[in-house]
Amino acid sequence: MTAPVSKNAATAGKIALDAPIFDPNAFRLSEEQASIISRARELGQTVFADRAAAYDRDAKFPTENYRDLHRAGLLGISIPKRHGGLGADYQTYALAAAEIGRYCGATALTWNMHVCSTLWSGPLADDLDMDAASRAEHERRRSIHYKRIVEDGAIYSQPFSEGGAAAAGGVAFGTEAKPVKGGWVVSGKKIFASLSGHADYYGVLCTEIAEGEKASRRNTLYLAIPAKADGVSVVGDWDPLGMRGTVSRTLLFKDVFVEEDAALMPRGVYFQAAQRWPHMFLTLSPTYMGLAQAAYDFTVRYLRGEIPGTPPVKRRMYPTKQIAVAQMQIKLEQIKAIWFQAVSEAHANPSKEQVLRAYAAQYSVMEGANELATLAIRTCGGQAMLKSLPLERIYRDSRCGSLMLPWTAELCLDRIGREALYEAGETDD
Ligand SMILES: Cc1cc2nc3c(=O)[nH]c(=O)nc-3n(C[C@H](O)[C@H](O)[C@H](O)COP(=O)(O)OP(=O)(O)OC[C@H]3O[C@@H](n4cnc5c(N)ncnc54)[C@H](O)[C@@H]3O)c2cc1C
Repeated sequence: MTAPVSKNAATAGKIALDAPIFDPNAFRLSEEQASIISRARELGQTVFADRAAAYDRDAKFPTENYRDLHRAGLLGISIPKRHGGLGADYQTYALAAAEIGRYCGATALTWNMHVCSTLWSGPLADDLDMDAASRAEHERRRSIHYKRIVEDGAIYSQPFSEGGAAAAGGVAFGTEAKPVKGGWVVSGKKIFASLSGHADYYGVLCTEIAEGEKASRRNTLYLAIPAKADGVSVVGDWDPLGMRGTVSRTLLFKDVFVEEDAALMPRGVYFQAAQRWPHMFLTLSPTYMGLAQAAYDFTVRYLRGEIPGTPPVKRRMYPTKQIAVAQMQIKLEQIKAIWFQAVSEAHANPSKEQVLRAYAAQYSVMEGANELATLAIRTCGGQAMLKSLPLERIYRDSRCGSLMLPWTAELCLDRIGREALYEAGETDD
């Protein structure tokens, strides 16, 4: 059962801290996990929540939040301890990110792009096949990236959408990396590139292609291109419905030279990861798990007359409101259950059942968060949707979740239907 506010957390001079979305005892988390997750929750509630409205209104990147994430060690949440990070595994990161998403969707979503640069090059890459020389080289290279993050607060992004079928995993990326002495020359375009103009490094997925070769997904490279490199530019405006603080503009790369140490994964490893570690694409969902909880928390507080800055009018005595809250609570617990299971079983070579469950979890969270926000608006009523309150932002932000490639809500349905009915390689011919 989710309790919106901890009853005994109030200490002199401090606000009462919310209870965690996933109670550490009930969900059997270790003390270390609980401590990392509560660090994220406290920062989210006590600092990010108040700043969220301005970032949203001005479609401004949450730079101040990133400074705080760095100070709290959370930019390096998934960096191994031996490299100075917190060493959080996939599940711990997902639960911490949900807590950030509860208070600022745009910060959680962009933090996800940053953290995945370290999660994919770190624990995920450790699960994949590499020969000894490639593994040693990878260890040396990633330590360069990790040092920048831990020591200097460097921010990484993950632009891979190009407007075609590549981000959905269908064809090779159109952004090309031509091998040259000491590195590559990269040219191409990325759309919806969150953190554009604000990240220090763009973690670009592109296709390595020598003169006269055909593009192949097998030759996907994952390169951290310095934002200040010659030939990199940010174009277009950014004035969307929701997730406005992500600043997801268009990135252009024109003959950008990138040195070999920019590789976040050795050759062939991204392709291997996409085949063998599919939960890597579930990492956009924690933000929306947090938004689902936020819609529920708001509704309970509003009906109890406990939203700061609003009159203490109670609306909880109406049976229709009670039924709506019951429906929301049931929906929230359903989302939490499938999502917790899916993020707990992320590893290499999952079973078919686990992969289908991951798609189902993604679909449930991405669609469910907005269903909860919709119910919250209907239940709380007109005064609750004013821009002075967070609910309408939660509603707009949550609408964007099911659009996120490669696991959009449509693509999840498509894959579940096909993969449930056909075994690998099966046809009707
Ligand atoms: C707030 C926000 C932040 C974002 N940040 C990033 C980011 O940092 N990095 C990044 O790479 N991208 C990012 N994206 C981009 C996102 O993942 C999508 O690529 C983007 O929304 C563009 O989608 P589209 O609807 O134009 O895609 P389209 O390619 O036009 O697809 C439209 C729909 O068709 C379906 N579809 C697409 N391809 C297939 C297929 N092969 N088979 C079946 N159905 C298909 C999907 O359901 C999809 O939603 C962000 C998007 C948003 C909204």
